[in-house]
Amino acid sequence: MASRGSVQAKLNQVVQAIAQAMASEVCSIYLLRDGWLELFATEGLSQDAVHVTRLALSEGLVGNIARNGEPLNLAEARAHADFAYRPETGEDLFHSFAGVPILRRGKALGVLCVQHMEQRQYEDEEIEALQTVAMVLAEMIANARLVDEESLARARAQSTGPVRLTGTRLVEGLARGVAVLHEPRVVVQHTVAEDIEAEKNRVRAAFQTMRAQIDRMMSQAEFAAPGEHEEILETYKMFAFDEGWARRINEAIESGLTAEAAIERVQQRTRVTMRNTKDPFFLERLHDLDDLANRLLRIVSGQMGTAAQTGLTQDTILIAKNLGPAELLEYDRRFLKGVVLEEGSPTAHVTILARAMGIPMLGRIKQLREVVDEGDPLLLDGSNDSLFVRPAPDVVRQFEAHAALRQQRQEAYAKLRGLPAVSLDGHRIELMMNAGLRVDLSGLDVTNADGIGLFRTEFQFLVSATLPRREAQTRLYSAVLEAAGDKPVIFRTVDIGGDKAVPYLQDDGPEENPAMGWRALRVALERRGLLKVQARALLDAAAGRTLNVMFPMVTEPWEFEQARAIVEDQAAYLRGRGLPLPTTIHYGVMMEVPALAWRLDALLPHIDFLSIGTNDLIQFLLAADRSNPKLADRYDWVSPGILRFLKFIIDQASAAGKTVSVCGEMGGRPLEALALLGLGVNRLSITPAAIGPIKMVVRNTHLGRLRTLMADLLTYPLADIRAELQRFAREENIPLQ
Ligand code: PEP
Ligand code: MG
Repeated sequence: MASRGSVQAKLNQVVQAIAQAMASEVCSIYLLRDGWLELFATEGLSQDAVHVTRLALSEGLVGNIARNGEPLNLAEARAHADFAYRPETGEDLFHSFAGVPILRRGKALGVLCVQHMEQRQYEDEEIEALQTVAMVLAEMIANARLVDEESLARARAQSTGPVRLTGTRLVEGLARGVAVLHEPRVVVQHTVAEDIEAEKNRVRAAFQTMRAQIDRMMSQAEFAAPGEHEEILETYKMFAFDEGWARRINEAIESGLTAEAAIERVQQRTRVTMRNTKDPFFLERLHDLDDLANRLLRIVSGQMGTAAQTGLTQDTILIAKNLGPAELLEYDRRFLKGVVLEEGSPTAHVTILARAMGIPMLGRIKQLREVVDEGDPLLLDGSNDSLFVRPAPDVVRQFEAHAALRQQRQEAYAKLRGLPAVSLDGHRIELMMNAGLRVDLSGLDVTNADGIGLFRTEFQFLVSATLPRREAQTRLYSAVLEAAGDKPVIFRTVDIGGDKAVPYLQDDGPEENPAMGWRALRVALERRGLLKVQARALLDAAAGRTLNVMFPMVTEPWEFEQARAIVEDQAAYLRGRGLPLPTTIHYGVMMEVPALAWRLDALLPHIDFLSIGTNDLIQFLLAADRSNPKLADRYDWVSPGILRFLKFIIDQASAAGKTVSVCGEMGGRPLEALALLGLGVNRLSITPAAIGPIKMVVRNTHLGRLRTLMADLLTYPLADIRAELQRFAREENIPLQ
């Protein structure tokens, strides 16, 4: 580390050199010290003012620049509202003013500015030259530790202050923690290039890598479908091949910066334009460019990993644009308290997973990653769809009161643990839970659920890098059955595909529409080895007890017949060798594909139970992609068409004497669950956290009256069913929270 004396000498040289190069009468450097912006070096102002003149962050043009992190370019400084005159500096002679922030990791350490006697507007090139010098200064200042962390933190709190962001609640709950960015911002360590040509080569190579990545992404199944990804990727592509962008970065390198610093320099310009842009379309494009600049920075600096690789060390709220289910699982659950996404939707698998893991989640917050910085204290309040960033003390107090109230409610649910879900008029409703991982099993004991109504076996496939071996599958299924004891467990065979892509199986190239593509039972019937192995694992694990197995995405009865035949063949094989078998096998089908509703007459006689997968069924009925955030509002569980359709299925199953349950997310939402109970459903399989609230609903509902109401609502479907159910709940004192 350089001594403070030598650094001061360097700062003095810098101001002299700039003043000379820009033919300006004044050049000054202000740095943060003890929460103030202190004049550290000047050419042109009175030397007596050095280390004497201090400005608060809310004060003067210098304060404005540090606060906003943006340059100012003024022909007449006094005309600006923030102008503050300091007599000791002798600056009354000067009219024009240009200043840029000295930024390190996105935070202002200080300000570099020039002043002229004449009234003049500075050229863009001059401002950019100042920004380049400011970057180099930032590295020097950081190395010399001229600005302490405390001042920075104070400055940041003052300049950014508390912010409340609102989005859409994806998983209920409250969480408190510090912000961790899933894709951490790259820290530019070195700004001064030692070999200009080498830096240019690095940028060239990084551009090539990035272009190849984008081409690859565009051909990937999940992005190949038309939709917003396509648009974003097209824009990415446009920018990635934009010679102008590459040229500007090269010019910045020629001015003496490293590849990283040059990319960031050009990015600063984008950000300034972004802040001054009102046009939403243009703003979106600038966001894309900013995103791409981050990607380029990660490539060139080799800082590619996600925060999961670094590991979490304290209570964390994870911030990301979007996440895949496997990415979420990489995080340490002990510290992961909440997740906030710029995108996200309520029935995407990552949301289902977070719900199963009991991790509160908020989505659809635009500009999230601009407002929230690494390490910011955060409060996530799912009940108000809010994220409080750097919250003020009174907000923290309010949050704590809310958390206490919630705790009371949880205690009330816990008191219901030993009580059955019986309605006021004596109907017993079965409340089972959904699970998919070993860690979910503790939920059985906590909630005292009636069993596992949906075990998503594909989660084991999602978290492993290769196809799980039969022994590993058997071990997991045995553990599940052991945890369940006497309670039933319904295993669903793998549902891979859609938004649950696993690279080692998806090798047939991209799909136009993966949710309606080669997924679930369609994969299993083509790759029979997969289903055979799974069937064998299930049979082994359930030896000596009942095995309940169900098949996902059945469209035609023959698919069920073939799938069952595979399981039966495996059972026959075991029987032939005198190996132990389940005492009984119950076969079920997931009702997720609308067409199957008109084949139930042929199917129902052959199955033991039917489970309605509302997540998929509704997305197909409404033609609204369950994971597309733009369609989340259209995805209405209680729209008359949906409820009538569900009734059609439930009535057929009941008439055939077959158990019908609902295992989609719909059943875990109090109002939607009320609708299902009203339609005649007597078994729900839901996320563990919903067992308490739904049991509370059941125990406070007169099912007879509810069913009469639903019958009326479906006869006169013009009524707003949501409002009617809310009114009913209010009048009957049914808690819907
Ligand atoms: C469903 O579609 O409702 C369902 C339960 O299956 P998954 O969410 O796993 O697709
Ligand atoms: Mg499904």
